[in-house]
Amino acid sequence: MSDTLSGPSAGLEQEQFLRILTREEAISAFRAALQPQPLGSEKVPLAALAGRVLSADIAAPVDTPPFDRSVVDGFAVRAADVVGASSGMPIRLALNPEVIACGTVPGLTVHAGTATPISTGGPVPRGADAIVMIEQTETVGETGLLVSRAVAPGQNIAFAGSDIAQGQTLLRRGTMIGAREVAMLAAVGLGVVEVWRKPRVAVLSTGDELVQPGETLRPAAVYDSNGPTVAAALEENGCLALRLGAVADDPEQLRTAMMEAFATADALILSGGTSKGAGDLTYRIVGDLGAPGIIAHGVALKPGKPLCLAVCDGKPVVVLPGFPTSAMFTFHDVVVPFLRILAGLPEREERALTARLPVSVSSELGRTEFVMVALSQGTAGGLVAQPVGKGSGAVTAFSQADGFLRVEALVESLPAGTDVEVTLFTPHLAIPDLVIMGSHCVGLDAVLARMTGTARVLATGSLGGLAALRRGECDIAPIHLMAPESGVYNTPFLSAGMRLLPGWMRLQGLVFRAGDARFERRPIAEAIAAALADPDCIMVNRNQGAGTRTLIDGLLAGQRPAGYWNQPRSHNAVAAAVAQGRADWGIAIRPVALAQGLGFLPLGVEHYDFAVAEAPRNMAALAEFERALAEAVPALLALGFEKQTLLSEAR
Ligand code: AMP
Ligand code: MG
Repeated sequence: MSDTLSGPSAGLEQEQFLRILTREEAISAFRAALQPQPLGSEKVPLAALAGRVLSADIAAPVDTPPFDRSVVDGFAVRAADVVGASSGMPIRLALNPEVIACGTVPGLTVHAGTATPISTGGPVPRGADAIVMIEQTETVGETGLLVSRAVAPGQNIAFAGSDIAQGQTLLRRGTMIGAREVAMLAAVGLGVVEVWRKPRVAVLSTGDELVQPGETLRPAAVYDSNGPTVAAALEENGCLALRLGAVADDPEQLRTAMMEAFATADALILSGGTSKGAGDLTYRIVGDLGAPGIIAHGVALKPGKPLCLAVCDGKPVVVLPGFPTSAMFTFHDVVVPFLRILAGLPEREERALTARLPVSVSSELGRTEFVMVALSQGTAGGLVAQPVGKGSGAVTAFSQADGFLRVEALVESLPAGTDVEVTLFTPHLAIPDLVIMGSHCVGLDAVLARMTGTARVLATGSLGGLAALRRGECDIAPIHLMAPESGVYNTPFLSAGMRLLPGWMRLQGLVFRAGDARFERRPIAEAIAAALADPDCIMVNRNQGAGTRTLIDGLLAGQRPAGYWNQPRSHNAVAAAVAQGRADWGIAIRPVALAQGLGFLPLGVEHYDFAVAEAPRNMAALAEFERALAEAVPALLALGFEKQTLLSEAR
């Protein structure tokens, strides 16, 4: 996806991209062209009503309860007969030869001086005006009853229509039906009600590279995450998703798929192919689906600039950007509000709250920018909003984030300490027991899996974690930092008020594809020499600042072989590059080499420990973490990590 607007060779395909609309302009132009309204109603049986929206007010067709009924087990009487009754002076009544159970239609009148046995829920018989509870009576033989307490007229009776009166408006148009609403509809006997028809929304992903989840990934392919995500979001917003999978970037296939989808659906949501790549044809076909066609192509949103909004023959057709995060933000921000109108749903209720930014956030001038944030409790009592975005390609940010903040188009940066409004992704905010910020390690998951409390891990790198711990914004900072002068790990980097929980050691080494004779079973120095001697041998490096990079620089002693400038940021990326043949060797930790089935020549260990506050803000949760850490040792060893024995003894 490119944000470039135009160029000398932009030509026809760039036509629509030349005019970038602001977010507000795009939304109002779309509204004007679409004139959204619910799509009509349909009758739906009670069993299928959950989540549907009433298209008309519902009036109760009957009274509830439908007759006067007893709310206790006891005896139907005339209140006037038992005036003055007490345990000292009980009043004697004659029992009528009938028992009114639930569902029994009474046959006998309660005349003066008589009583009829009645169960809870039984219809009050003719002549009776109150019910005496069984506890306040005593039977005498087969036919006599002693009543030891007076009752007022109407006592212990629920009168017909006292709960819901016939004709009363029970539920209002626009109400979404849940269990409570079903209870009310069922109580008045409505088996079928009229609700808004669900918009049928076709979801089609585009791209040669897309594979459906559940299938095997082929080389150079990625899973279609936009399709399933959009479909799930549609269902959350009252629509019926027609999941059409992915179609290749082939003009004919794409045209056929889009035409078919458009013919059967009320709306069409595509993703991918909106920017100017060679395969990006989608928006050109959109123009042929019907008038007026494209309303906005290019919206000043970040992420999400290539968003394309169209209205064809009265139906919305939207092409979301291909990048999953861009697709989600544009879909939720711009498209969902319109779909909710078509579905007859009320405006989305969003919960926003105020939090403080711990770091500054820069933003592009002229574009409305969305920044995902994770919330945690700050030291001063308020909430802290930690940005977690990793660029518009990252999906994982969604799982770590509680919500997002919007930086308006004319704001260039938000300084650290700014109070910002955070819109929550879900209405329920659950602050985790522990916030862990720092360097991520797969071994950490083995520890967290053994905890009962909740923890959130934000990968910020060791130094970022220490800074957050110093500011009191996290509980644990996993770090692996070596002091170059002493070669000592981690302890030299602690500030006052911090201590170190010993973690584990990670054996680093040279990774290569098993069977590569340049490396297999050679001493490290020889292996490096063989690599450097072979002009076809390509390495994969690490980013500046990584502990591993220091190690690599030492091994290379100033040489820069092919691949030196390929500098990914993680052990996993190094192992993937070697396993997939993009590089022949690199330096990574043993568990990652094991997981990828790579050969491994050991180099040395690095210490991965946990910096914590001496006075932790959640003592119990930290103790729980320490317990899980101890319990995880066998699992960590099985994953290929080394135990920290020497280190912990030395401390
Ligand atoms: P495009 O907008 O088609 O140029 O795609 C931009 C980027 O998003 C590319 O890296 C695509 O592989 C990726 N992408 C496009 N569609 C999807 C999808 N449905 N799921 C996941 N990634 C996608
Ligand atoms: Mg594409």
